[in-house]
Amino acid sequence: MLDRKRGTVRDLRRENRAAVLWSLYLSQPRSRYELSEATGLSAASVTNVVRELIDEGIVIETGLEESDGGRPRAILGMNPGYGYVIGVDIGETRTRVELFDLTMTERARAEYPLDRAVEHDVNVVVEQIVSGVNAVITDSGVDSGAILGVGIGVPGIIERGPEVLVHSQTYGWDAVPLWRLLRAHTGLPLRFDNGANTMGQAELWFGAGRGARNAVVVLIGSGVGASLISGGATYQGATSSAAEFGHVTVVMGGRKCRCGLIGCLEAYVGAEAILERYGRPMAANDQEGALAELIDAAGTSPLAAAILDETAQYLGAGIGTLINLFNPERVVLGGWAGLLLGGSLLPQIRESARQHSLRHPFAATSIELGRLGPGAVALGAATLPMESFLNGSWAGGGPRAQPRLTPR
Ligand SMILES: [Zn+2]
Repeated sequence: MLDRKRGTVRDLRRENRAAVLWSLYLSQPRSRYELSEATGLSAASVTNVVRELIDEGIVIETGLEESDGGRPRAILGMNPGYGYVIGVDIGETRTRVELFDLTMTERARAEYPLDRAVEHDVNVVVEQIVSGVNAVITDSGVDSGAILGVGIGVPGIIERGPEVLVHSQTYGWDAVPLWRLLRAHTGLPLRFDNGANTMGQAELWFGAGRGARNAVVVLIGSGVGASLISGGATYQGATSSAAEFGHVTVVMGGRKCRCGLIGCLEAYVGAEAILERYGRPMAANDQEGALAELIDAAGTSPLAAAILDETAQYLGAGIGTLINLFNPERVVLGGWAGLLLGGSLLPQIRESARQHSLRHPFAATSIELGRLGPGAVALGAATLPMESFLNGSWAGGGPRAQPRLTPR
């Protein structure tokens, strides 16, 4: 009985601490009064938790604000130098590694374009990640002991069994033991999620999805993915493959998709497919420039204009399906190709979505461009170890946590 009571008090303290940390992390700077309003905790509880967090160096006072008639209130923020997180985006055209401080300010970045000859070879990707992690730690000059963890956005489905396995049909990755391959080179805590999900989390917390409870974030690069936000959290499905939006059929007997199926959405609106339809197939490392050129050419080339118009039609129809199925309040279009396409085609995409969805759910949805740029996947990946830290479980514990070893 006594033990249970002690446990309850301890749990409550941990919950209060997590509530204050989350609130401050997502909306900083804030005063103690605002934290109390936002978390529903009493002023006394907030004061206690904040004192603890300041003593530990996690939270700092960043300034003062006037309050009506009373003493000025201290403004609180996360201490940027307390700890750091690294986000990795295993993209189809490049591997991007970024290091962020506790305020999610980028402190260093390393990028490795994929070499045409060895595209998507898992050993090359592992080598790029390891080099990138070492490079951002060196370039930022931070102590590797202050790294809270590395989050990795992968272009596929993650199987969380006895070990983390990645399945990516379009990459030819079948049960790739990515955790084990990386663990051979680093002792830092490693967390994984699908890249569309990490981008979705970044846009939800810091970008165009902010404040939305039900949203769909669509990622378009060489391929197409999506993240479903339901009730404020990412919906994973039975085996973490929910929202493989790129592989819904849009044309019976249509183009062959990279996944092996026929007529997938990705076979029409992924950057690789768009360039193939335009008659200019490109290796992954040349696609970004080539798609930008295609969009520029639309003013003078009827073929380029027709390809883009058709792309907007298909993409809008796909988004219409998402609206009918999930009734989101917001659809956010991101990924490097999604941002390029949306930059010039958003009105056409919206019109096509209107034509391919029911009036009532369409009227309740806005379709917007991502606000965080093509780096959103890496930023979102960096939030994976941050989640564990804010919940107070980053040094172990929790069903999805990875064992933590000393950094080498
Ligand atoms: Zn497919």
